Amino acid sequence: MIYITGNELRNKFLQFFASKNHLVLKSYPLIPENDPTLLLVGAGMAPFKPFFTGKMNPPHPRISTSQKCVRTGDIENVGRTARHHTFFEMLGNFSFGDYFKNEAIAWAWEFITEHLEMPIDKLWVTIHTQDDEAFAIWNNDIKVPAERIIRMEDNFWEIGPGPCGPCSEIYFDLGEERGCGNPDCAVGCDCDRYLEIWNLVFTQYDRDEVGNYTPLAKKNIDTGAGLERIASVLQNKPSNFETDLLFPLIEHAAAVANVTYGCSNKVDVSLKVIGDHIRSMTVMIADGILPSNEGRGYVLRRILRRAVRHARLLGIEKMFLVDMVDVVTKIFAQPYPDLGEKQDYIKKVIQLEEERFQTTLVQGMELLNRHIQGLKEDNVTVLDGATVFKLYDTFGFPWELTLEIVEEHGMKLDKKAFDEAMKEQRARARAGRQASAEQVVIPDLSHLKTEDLCINEQAVGGSVVLLWKDGIIVDEVHDGEDVGIILNVTPFHPEGGGQVSDIGFIEGPLGKMEITTVKKLLNGTIYHLGHVTEGALKVYDTAQLKVNVVRRQAVARNHTATHLLHGALKEVLGSHVNQAGSFVNPERLRFDFSHFSAVTAEELAAVEKIVQHNILANIPVSISEKTQDEAKEMGAIALFGEKYGDSVRVVAVGDVSTELCGGTHVENSAEICLMKIVSEAGIGSGIRRIEAVTGAGAVEYINTRDSLLQGTAALLKARPEEIVTKVDSMMSRIKELENELAQLNTKQAQIEVQELLGNAELMNGVQVVVGQVSSTDMDGLRMVADMVRDHLKCGVVTLGAVHADKVNFVAMVTKEAVAKGLHAGNIVKEVAKVAGGGGGGRPDMAQAGGKQPEKISEALRSAVAVIKQQLK
Ligand SMILES: [Zn+2]
Ligand SMILES: [Zn+2]
Repeated sequence: MIYITGNELRNKFLQFFASKNHLVLKSYPLIPENDPTLLLVGAGMAPFKPFFTGKMNPPHPRISTSQKCVRTGDIENVGRTARHHTFFEMLGNFSFGDYFKNEAIAWAWEFITEHLEMPIDKLWVTIHTQDDEAFAIWNNDIKVPAERIIRMEDNFWEIGPGPCGPCSEIYFDLGEERGCGNPDCAVGCDCDRYLEIWNLVFTQYDRDEVGNYTPLAKKNIDTGAGLERIASVLQNKPSNFETDLLFPLIEHAAAVANVTYGCSNKVDVSLKVIGDHIRSMTVMIADGILPSNEGRGYVLRRILRRAVRHARLLGIEKMFLVDMVDVVTKIFAQPYPDLGEKQDYIKKVIQLEEERFQTTLVQGMELLNRHIQGLKEDNVTVLDGATVFKLYDTFGFPWELTLEIVEEHGMKLDKKAFDEAMKEQRARARAGRQASAEQVVIPDLSHLKTEDLCINEQAVGGSVVLLWKDGIIVDEVHDGEDVGIILNVTPFHPEGGGQVSDIGFIEGPLGKMEITTVKKLLNGTIYHLGHVTEGALKVYDTAQLKVNVVRRQAVARNHTATHLLHGALKEVLGSHVNQAGSFVNPERLRFDFSHFSAVTAEELAAVEKIVQHNILANIPVSISEKTQDEAKEMGAIALFGEKYGDSVRVVAVGDVSTELCGGTHVENSAEICLMKIVSEAGIGSGIRRIEAVTGAGAVEYINTRDSLLQGTAALLKARPEEIVTKVDSMMSRIKELENELAQLNTKQAQIEVQELLGNAELMNGVQVVVGQVSSTDMDGLRMVADMVRDHLKCGVVTLGAVHADKVNFVAMVTKEAVAKGLHAGNIVKEVAKVAGGGGGGRPDMAQAGGKQPEKISEALRSAVAVIKQQLK
């Protein structure tokens, strides 16, 4: 077996596959391209997924790489085993519908036995239980004895639906002395004796959602060999950590800590953790990841803080991770020269994060140790969520780190309660952010040299002049914090004059901040409020300034449109129209003005027409600084409620509109595209409000209206242009039907009246009519009662009718019958009582209602009794 360095091994592998007509590519970055489902690249094949699924064509049917990989699924095992890493490199050769099993197996064997000169008697292979094809190749072609080819059920590679297939692994026997000593120790044993050095995956099936396996027309090869593992074999080292890829890092950490590697397991674990983690963080930062509390940034933060904690365990109290970056870049100088180029940057990021955690680590550990001690005394084995959250929130302990520490004491933590606390904090932060934008505390800025600050809408870069947090000036701000920032030059437009501010991002060399509000102080100083999303920002940082220009353009369209609207209103309604206020955001514009009656539809149409004419007239918008007098001469309309100094900003849309205004505008009226008035209403005495939309908003408004029209037309079974005629004829038809119905009702009533009169009873010379009529409302009921009464000379009529879920009663008494003692009001009062209601009225006419329609007959029977009573 040959001895070679890690770098030589990597080169040898790639050169070997180049000689087999493979295209050798550089490692892909750790941030997956176009794969939002994946946080970090964790396998050699990950960047090639679209080639395997056939979504994209590969640049070459055969590719070989040494891929940078980061995995954190087993992070707690790093340092405790010989092989676990958060960062490692995976050597791989890939075939996309080109060569298959024969070549993949033969070349793997050729490389390890001829080029690395691994002794054949140390090698074992595994295949999938049913893969007779692979068995035949290993046994007949490669001449591996049958007893060294092990069939395993697990040798099948698949992740959900998609390409999948059996795999074949090559193992290296490190010798009996490295084994567990069990008599049945063999390939697949958990111990360190048999080391898997290469996995060959034969993607030959396509798995569907149900679990059917169909042979692929184009079969693929995907192999992976751990660089560090093979190096450990060739360099005859007990673990990956002693290879030249990692050991210089362990030596460096040991020297700083003044400890010796290999004397104590506990010390070794910490040294290995540091050695592994510094490689991860260096490469992650070089690939553009910054520490944060989310996603990849959180993975980085967790790795970094874990390393700092292990340094503490070794007694290292000073900052030291930064210096280790030099060692990493030296080891990786040949394959990853970009690490050297970005060395200063990487060190700055690590230094900031290390400093930040160092300041709280000791207090956090004290708190945690106290709690653990207390729990032990009380025989409790679960650390409460509130403490886990406090460690996270106040001391910056990733909860996974807290978990690791409590697990070292044989305890658990209450993850559910921690998650709850996190959720509450996020809600609080959101609410707080909204509130703080409203009432932000501005620090004392009297020392600020305002003459050094300037505004330039086109600026794309600037430097950080001042930072503050909670009203206190600070030198640096960190991810997760809500802060204020002042720049030497800003392109961000502040809110004011009824216009919302710009929003966007500020990106420093080490961090990124989202700008949500921009405001202007009385002395003209512009400050920005926002949330640091990644890393950190420092005073004197040079930053990229990224205004959300799509939004700014939408605001500008609406703003220039308000000026055009203002002019058009004066033209149509008269010169008494004056602006009384306005509000402009990306979605719409609102314009309040003085006018003493509602604006008619015709007037609105005329206003819209003028504005639209000016939009399409392609008029340039000019912005200039003028003296107040010059502005007045130009005929500028002053804005409502603004105070002006000597010099004023004049916004002119050709000679159509001239106003004093501080807002953002389009350069040419044509950019507005379209303006649609959405509403017009009065909002106070003599003040009207118009709301309108422009640009994309106007198009969307019209589209919404259009689909409403289409929908209505479909309901009416007509074409949109026929709707008016159709609705018109429907309205006439409804009128006709209503008339017919009224006639029918009258006829029905006449029939009922005749029936009721036929059933009239004579009591003491009074005609008594009591009865139920068909379902109708009170008006209908009264009409029938009227008709009955008109036929009576001396009489009383009491009627009931069920309407919906209620019952109505009416009683009418002729003059002569009133004279005989009858009282309509008292009759209905008694009757309604029976049906769960009440009412009353005059002696000659009264009505009432009840809630129990089922009692109508009983109630009407009681009417007869009441009338008899009254006639006595
Ligand atoms: Zn074993
Ligand atoms: Zn304006």
